Amino acid sequence: MKRRDFIIKTTGVAAATLSYSQLYGHIQKQIESTANQSNYDVIVLGVGSMGSATCYQLAKRGFRVLGLEQFDIPHELGSHAGQSRIIRKAYGEGSDYVPLLERAYQNWKTLEAETGSQVYYKTGLMYFGAPDDPFLKTVKSSSVKYKIPVDNLTAAECDRKFPQFKLPQNFQRLEEPDAGFITPERSILLFVEQAIKNGAVIRTKEKVIEWKRENGSVTVVTNRGTYKASKLVITAGPWAGKMIPALASKLTITRQAVAWVKPKKWDNFALGKFPCWILENKDHDFYGFPILPVGTFGGPLGLKLALHYPGAETTDPDKVNRDMKDSDEKTLIKFLNEFIPDGYENTLVMKTCLYTNSPDNDFIIDYLAGFDKDVVFATGFSGHGFKFVSVVGEILSDLALNGSTSLPIGFLNAKRFG
Ligand SMILES: Cc1cc2nc3c(=O)[nH]c(=O)nc-3n(C[C@H](O)[C@H](O)[C@H](O)COP(=O)(O)OP(=O)(O)OC[C@H]3O[C@@H](n4cnc5c(N)ncnc54)[C@H](O)[C@@H]3O)c2cc1C
Repeated sequence: MKRRDFIIKTTGVAAATLSYSQLYGHIQKQIESTANQSNYDVIVLGVGSMGSATCYQLAKRGFRVLGLEQFDIPHELGSHAGQSRIIRKAYGEGSDYVPLLERAYQNWKTLEAETGSQVYYKTGLMYFGAPDDPFLKTVKSSSVKYKIPVDNLTAAECDRKFPQFKLPQNFQRLEEPDAGFITPERSILLFVEQAIKNGAVIRTKEKVIEWKRENGSVTVVTNRGTYKASKLVITAGPWAGKMIPALASKLTITRQAVAWVKPKKWDNFALGKFPCWILENKDHDFYGFPILPVGTFGGPLGLKLALHYPGAETTDPDKVNRDMKDSDEKTLIKFLNEFIPDGYENTLVMKTCLYTNSPDNDFIIDYLAGFDKDVVFATGFSGHGFKFVSVVGEILSDLALNGSTSLPIGFLNAKRFG
């Protein structure tokens, strides 16, 4: 593969000064202005969360990149819509993730420095759960192992700080002050903007129909054209099983319901007054965010919360039932009335979003067996992947360009499923 020796000039609009809708319009114009070719060093299949960061990393390293996205960038039909994604470091899903999170935090900072635009908001995060809750146990052990500040608040301290919550007396109340949220749509747009600035070609509304490897190169056929590249990176999210049939039986796609509600006392839940939170209640995990201003973050407006696990239905990503069910709403209202009683007056909006679950809920990042090191994929983000987007882009670029990565991803290999 040859490094590119040209950079496309952008219009020079500073992303930092734009509202969300202005940024969206600005990037759509940039996407339309990229000049198509037929040969590339790397094709990225799917420009959502992981794909946008991969296009950015590859282009920044000077390679000819084509990003193919079947819908708009961003869009509401996959896994990345909805204004906010929690980011935290004392990882309850396993301490192996912490070194990747350290790198992810650094890479988010780099994106902010390069674009002058904020994507990480440090609101602090409250973890709540019973004394023997296994997730909270791992939060504490990850925090000790990697010296991540996590404070164990007493009930009285928590009530003083966040009177919005009404919790059983025996619940643990852990606070991770350096946690917060990332704004997903803005991040994806900024990664795409930076990728284009560094020479990437991004094509939207272009669906990949099939891909194959022959005579040492990869051919990708879409509904609008045929392209060749030395390497292929597959970041197709919920559609990964359709693009890699060998993976289909390992992935379960679930339809997740998310609500934005009007609280009884709006100001008490605004950004700056209310933290991000995760509450483990008898094996049901709920999470939520403060109310965010729509101008900066895009819609919808309201206090956002969702049920993480379990209870979601499986679905085909092309046949998702996006009509809301009474049961989706009732679960969330019941939760609010019990644990955040001033948090509910009425429901403003409900939306669906898709998780791509692996059998053990850990990510799968690897070379695709049978294609040497020419095809790389990342999937199975199991509802907790967005905070890692900035590091996954780096990892996938390392794998595609260098044949390995120094980042510790051994535990995410595909061979663990046989
Ligand atoms: C409701 C909800 C809440 C979440 N909360 C959090 C959170 O708080 N913190 C956190 O860290 N994570 C969270 N996540 C998880 C996180 O958002 C996902 O792990 C992440 O977005 C997955 O990224 P992806 O790139 O795999 O998928 P996507 O972002 O969906 O990207 C895949 C892209 O590939 C495209 N594509 C697929 N097939 C084709 C094709 N044939 N041709 C062209 N393009 C194609 C799709 O259109 C899509 O744009 C949440 C997810 C959901 C649904």
